[in-house]
Amino acid sequence: MDQRIVGILGGGQLGRMLVEAANRLNIRTIVLDAPNSPAKQISNSSEHVDGSYTNPQDIEKLAAKCDVLTIEIEHVDVLTLQSVQLTYPNLKIYPTPETIQLIQDKYIQKEHLMKNGINVVESVPILESTESNLVRIGERFDYPFMLKSRTFAYDGRGNFVVKKPEDIPNALKTLKDSPLYAEKWSLFTKELAVMVIRSVNGQVFSYPVVETVHEDNMCHLCYAPARVPDSVQLKAKLLAENAIKSFPGCGIFGVEMFYLENGEILVNEIAPRPHNSGHYTIDACVTSQFEAHLRAILDLPLPKGFTSLSTNSTNAIMLNIIGDKEEKDAELRICKRALNTPGCSVYLYGKESRPKRKIGHVNVISSSMGECERKLSSLLIEDEAPIE
Ligand code: ATP
Ligand code: MG
Ligand code: MG
Repeated sequence: MDQRIVGILGGGQLGRMLVEAANRLNIRTIVLDAPNSPAKQISNSSEHVDGSYTNPQDIEKLAAKCDVLTIEIEHVDVLTLQSVQLTYPNLKIYPTPETIQLIQDKYIQKEHLMKNGINVVESVPILESTESNLVRIGERFDYPFMLKSRTFAYDGRGNFVVKKPEDIPNALKTLKDSPLYAEKWSLFTKELAVMVIRSVNGQVFSYPVVETVHEDNMCHLCYAPARVPDSVQLKAKLLAENAIKSFPGCGIFGVEMFYLENGEILVNEIAPRPHNSGHYTIDACVTSQFEAHLRAILDLPLPKGFTSLSTNSTNAIMLNIIGDKEEKDAELRICKRALNTPGCSVYLYGKESRPKRKIGHVNVISSSMGECERKLSSLLIEDEAPIE
């Protein structure tokens, strides 16, 4: 299909699903991550690089073997990406180092979005992490407010809800190693998300608007399409597309949004890569988010309707399989029930079960959302049956 070799920085579940999509198109991939990482488990190549996407030498090793570099995580060493770009002028890096840099610091990302007229939650940088500075923010934003790490955040690790002034010392202690910013509390009624593809020539295409439900700051469920009126879906889609138009380069982006009671929609954050809220696309859409990303970065065709739901009546719910807090592997009971339920597909990532760790997901597909919801409740039924 394509002779070019795609290097992936990061071999977690997103890398694994990118490799799966690439394999289907016979596109060769080389993964940089720890040995036996989820992506490497399903790809037998002596070319993979053992190491880290934050280590300059490892990134250089990967770059030397590839025609196109991409990422499955934004917390990569951007300076090295910029320098390998100079060493290998023909190497394509998508998303571009510039885009990764604008996104990986969540406060710089907010500033960039504001500059481009995209509505975001009101935020302030914290130049010095002192109690008195946070007290001042509490006076300005009122309580609760959200204290966030600007860098290396994921799954809510890096967020602290400051509910009252007395929480401030603990908040500072918990996030003491990170540069910080604060966000006003957002009283959203729903969280929405849209996957947007940007092509090499800057055109944007969006997938359906979905609704995500978070538990403990972590995505738990994703409903596709979102259970909101068409007018709200349209507004969210346009906001997401406009946000992605502002970033150079190409590839797929996940846009997380808050839908407020007054009808306003704000961007929460953007990921420059495949995203948890796009996993439903594997079973519910014409082209999965992973294949769409590969097509975009390799400048392969993006034909009319490639981001649509498979049929007019396709509905989907994605359920994340998260490591049980009490009993190791107990979450696999849900997967067993899913295997036994028509319309459900199980994805396990080859990760060891640990509390609060994403180890897989289930896509539930049906011709009505009501039926998806019924199937979901049958998966989530509490039972104490031992795992066989
Ligand atoms: P991800 O894994 O999506 O990258 P993250 O660690 O970057 O997560 P955020 O997306 O900033 O974290 O926040 C995680 C969740 O916390 C949000 O999806 C939302 O449910 C809640 N949240 C974040 N910011 C706010 C806010 N300002 N007000 C209220 N809730 C918030
Ligand atoms: Mg994030
Ligand atoms: Mg998020």
